[in-house]
Amino acid sequence: MRKTKRFARRVISVCRSAFYSYPQKVQCNVCGWTGRSFLSDSWHEGVNCPNCNMGIRHRLLFAALQNIDEFSIERLIRGKTILHFAPEERIARIYKREAAAYITADFLRTDCNLQVDMSDMPQVGNDKFDAVIALDVLEHVPDYQRALEEIHRVLSPGGFAILTVPQKDNLLVTYEDPSIVTEEDRVKHFGQRDHLRIFGEDFPSVIEGKGFVVSVVDESSFSEDAQKRNVLFPPTISNHPLATNHRKAFFCKKASQPSAITERYATFQSSN
Ligand SMILES: [Zn+2]
Repeated sequence: MRKTKRFARRVISVCRSAFYSYPQKVQCNVCGWTGRSFLSDSWHEGVNCPNCNMGIRHRLLFAALQNIDEFSIERLIRGKTILHFAPEERIARIYKREAAAYITADFLRTDCNLQVDMSDMPQVGNDKFDAVIALDVLEHVPDYQRALEEIHRVLSPGGFAILTVPQKDNLLVTYEDPSIVTEEDRVKHFGQRDHLRIFGEDFPSVIEGKGFVVSVVDESSFSEDAQKRNVLFPPTISNHPLATNHRKAFFCKKASQPSAITERYATFQSSN
């Protein structure tokens, strides 16, 4: 009986895999998987890679690393010192291979090199890292503005913070309220039980206020063909009131002094 069940599960898995593999309409630019469509999550249809489980924010980041000269792996990662918060295993593998020194960090996880509070990192010296990477981390940090200041401090001059955050579509100002403390209320207001805010369009301005020059990469930074093939935008717009349909990746260059900022952030265009 147990053998039959195991066999049935195996058959289902093979059929499912074959169904998703052909025709080869979409491609994951993180792991290279190609297939019919990505998998759905609770808010969006067809967005997560069935092979590596990476989503739109990860593929947007990789599209930039692979296609935008200024933010290429060669410029930002290869031979550099990297601090990666809440590391995604699949991405960590690539950074580890390319970087001169690669350190992982998290507040709760014990499988990282450093167990640190991003908003207070006395164990990390000034100017230590060439890049700090934190994809969808700041919404979990109680004082995210302090975390941005700490990231600025530990970055070397000219180093990059590479950030993504959930941003509700068309929300102008980041919404947070410290009186919202229950998991149920956080789901209702911020979209997830452990989220402490939902970011708005003011996020890049807040980063710039901490002494960075910010460039925004979104699906419009890439060709229509790449947008569709790599699914850099949800194939079906989610109607969930808190959904982030327009994902953005922020490349934030540490300016020598906050007052040295002269450029305003701009959406980046890939040359491809
Ligand atoms: Zn993948």
